[in-house]
Amino acid sequence: MAEPTALADLALEASTCTRCPLSEHRTQVVFGVGDPQAQLMFVGEAPGRDEDLQGEPFVGRSGKLLDRLMAEELGIDRSSCYIANVVKCRPPDNRDPRPVEIATCRPYLAAQIDLIGPTVVVTLGNFAMKLLLETTDGIRSVRGRSYPFGPGHLVPTYHPAAALRSGGAVVAEMRSDLIRAKRLLGWSS
Ligand code: URA
Repeated sequence: MAEPTALADLALEASTCTRCPLSEHRTQVVFGVGDPQAQLMFVGEAPGRDEDLQGEPFVGRSGKLLDRLMAEELGIDRSSCYIANVVKCRPPDNRDPRPVEIATCRPYLAAQIDLIGPTVVVTLGNFAMKLLLETTDGIRSVRGRSYPFGPGHLVPTYHPAAALRSGGAVVAEMRSDLIRAKRLLGWSS
């Protein structure tokens, strides 16, 4: 398991990153937040406007839903897990991150996962799932089960923004994915 300082060192290195053009538009790098030794890690897509301004992942509307589902299904808040994104800088106008940006930023996420060593990674939406499972299949066909991932497991679920757009049925599926993660973590009673 990682020394928390190794993750802090990596965050410091990332804070001045200019490896891809997203660095030209950002207010700040949104590296990640939470427990450096977390058993559970969430991986989203990219910072949005609120995240770019505050320097923390999932602090806008999607984040509020994520916080609520985390509290209701897992009984935790964000300090008990770790939250990061596929790319660490906000794409302009909230466009999708481009393949070259994802590839350039990938070593940061890979190092975060290595250093934290989570038992369960929950991917939020297509971008994180496709990257980490190395698949081109879409979230609808991939979710509903867990996958071996390093020494642990990966549980794909929807992006909370999709749940906000689509409503109750997607939220219910996200809840069942979090319950799956909880079982894999051994947190179920
Ligand atoms: N959406 C994401 O994928 N990540 C964030 O940090 C915020 C919104």
